[in-house]
Amino acid sequence: MNDAEMRAARREHAGLLAMHRSRTTGTVIGLYRARDARLDDDEGRAPYSTVCQDHGTICCHRTLRAARGHMAYVGWCEACHAGARNGPQ
Ligand SMILES: [Zn+2]
Repeated sequence: MNDAEMRAARREHAGLLAMHRSRTTGTVIGLYRARDARLDDDEGRAPYSTVCQDHGTICCHRTLRAARGHMAYVGWCEACHAGARNGPQ
């Protein structure tokens, strides 16, 4: 995702910190500051969320490092996982 696309995505999605397209599945994964994105942050214990933009699957994280790790690996989204297993459409 280039800079212009990232700026547009930030305007569209509150709390967005990063976004990228998975090379494995071709789906777009967003990384959000949970509170700004109005996502559940487990009362501050899980301030970061990764979201599969294609399927709406949300995964909560305690640290930014953990959240970034989840951006590369989409096994936490069941729909993505099923798609990856079946190969590209
Ligand atoms: Zn997905």
